[in-house]
Amino acid sequence: MNGMYLDGQWRAAADGAQRDVIDPFDASVAATVAEGTETDARAAIAIARRTFDEGSWPATPAAERGRLLSRVADLLEADREGIARLETRDTGKTLIESRVDVDDVVAVFRYYAGLVDKHAGEVLATDSSETRSVVVREPVGVCGLITPWNYPLLQASWKLAPALAAGCTLVLKPSELTPLTTIRCFEVLEEAGVPPGVANLVLGPGPSVGAELAHSDDVDLVSFTGGLATGQGIVRAAADNVKRIALELGGKNPNIVFADADFDAAVDYALLAVFSHAGQVCSAGARLLVEDDLHDAFVEAVVERTRRIRLGNGLDERTEMGPLISSEHRAKVEAHVEQAVADGAEVAVGGRRPDDPALADGFFYEPTVLVGCEPGTAILAEEVFGPVLTVERFTSEEGALARANDTVYGLAGAVWTRDLARAERVAAGLRLGTVWVNDYHPYSPQAPWGGFKRSGIGRELGPEGLAEYQESKHVHTNLAPTPTGWFGASADGR
Ligand code: NAD
Repeated sequence: MNGMYLDGQWRAAADGAQRDVIDPFDASVAATVAEGTETDARAAIAIARRTFDEGSWPATPAAERGRLLSRVADLLEADREGIARLETRDTGKTLIESRVDVDDVVAVFRYYAGLVDKHAGEVLATDSSETRSVVVREPVGVCGLITPWNYPLLQASWKLAPALAAGCTLVLKPSELTPLTTIRCFEVLEEAGVPPGVANLVLGPGPSVGAELAHSDDVDLVSFTGGLATGQGIVRAAADNVKRIALELGGKNPNIVFADADFDAAVDYALLAVFSHAGQVCSAGARLLVEDDLHDAFVEAVVERTRRIRLGNGLDERTEMGPLISSEHRAKVEAHVEQAVADGAEVAVGGRRPDDPALADGFFYEPTVLVGCEPGTAILAEEVFGPVLTVERFTSEEGALARANDTVYGLAGAVWTRDLARAERVAAGLRLGTVWVNDYHPYSPQAPWGGFKRSGIGRELGPEGLAEYQESKHVHTNLAPTPTGWFGASADGR
């Protein structure tokens, strides 16, 4: 049984409860794990609090923390294939995608290992040679880290690596649907030598275990990645003790193709943008906006390629797209498509479960392209989080921008054109945290990741991702204090 990791010990839930983790390819039981409650969350928070307040971790030299993160990266890299296979079993994504995830996770740990001793603070210019002013960066304290099911290990690494680099202690709660690679990651943290009590893992449902992290007075920061509605609840809960929050929420991301774009590359990337991990990606390019002149030929090519996508077991190297995470989630995706059709959209391809009996036990849904979606309809506004591409037509640069920005979200998107001046103009006009020009999906540990508008608060990755876990303290020193005589300095007190 896979347990929780508290104070350097692997433990069952306090009440002994367990949960089966389901393989979405065939609904078989992939593993059984501990299922915690508020009691376990409170115990983990108390350990992280004590370790931060009384332990030596926050004052451990940054270079030493960096060496530890390097060891974590090396150990993860050494088990690349094993971890990738575990991630595929847990999430259903293809092995190719899982291997990329592990490589990205290793890169994130290496990046923060290298950054941690180069971000200590700064000396300020003052208006007197007899004063010194420095800003020192200190760890925020106890961090509650809550991650989603779609990129379990990757999202955990975006939080774990900078939190540990900063000298924080932490409690991490992965999604109850996909906890396996996070458990494996904590085995690696233990093996690398992270001291007991610094990094703690609790398992269990969001509304109990996750909510405890968000509410607790003993947690100084909560970093959450997940859906908009859950994120809104986190903001309310965090108000109790005015804890710091970092939120990475959803997206409704535009992929804008102008008529002068490289046709073959833009078609290829339109599929990659939306069908990676069956569309269960916060930055999925779910809205394809195509310039009028190109529209019909482009959509025809996209539909033709979509028809040929091979569904299957993620562990099979030939599989191009795996299942959705659960039958409940598939039902939500189906409801989105039904509503779109009721609102006047037309299914150009997909829009149903596959016939193949070999896939019947899994949570599969065919890659789907919807054309004729009307502005203002739900399918253009709500995050579907499945393999569903909507197509819109535009006639001008301004029109494309207006449509692309017509959403409450602002996470990411792309523009395809050979005119780089236009690309720059469109990138400047998009209200998004990330804009790709003639590309889709690459992100790098060096660059900040996060959203405008309701896609989130704060940034992960890059130096900003480390700063999320640090408090800035200004220390002003007067090297030659002399009395001011402002108060009570007269002889008679009048
Ligand atoms: P979710 O909001 O249902 O769950 C996310 C996490 O929050 C899980 O661990 C869950 O157990 C926990 N949780 C649920 N209710 C909670 C509560 N009341 N209090 C505290 N924690 C609670 O999201 P999901 O379905 O796991 O993930 C999909 C969503 O995540 C999508 O909207 C996607 O866009 C978003 N996402 C965003 C990014 C990003 O970088 N912006 C990355 C990945 C996923």
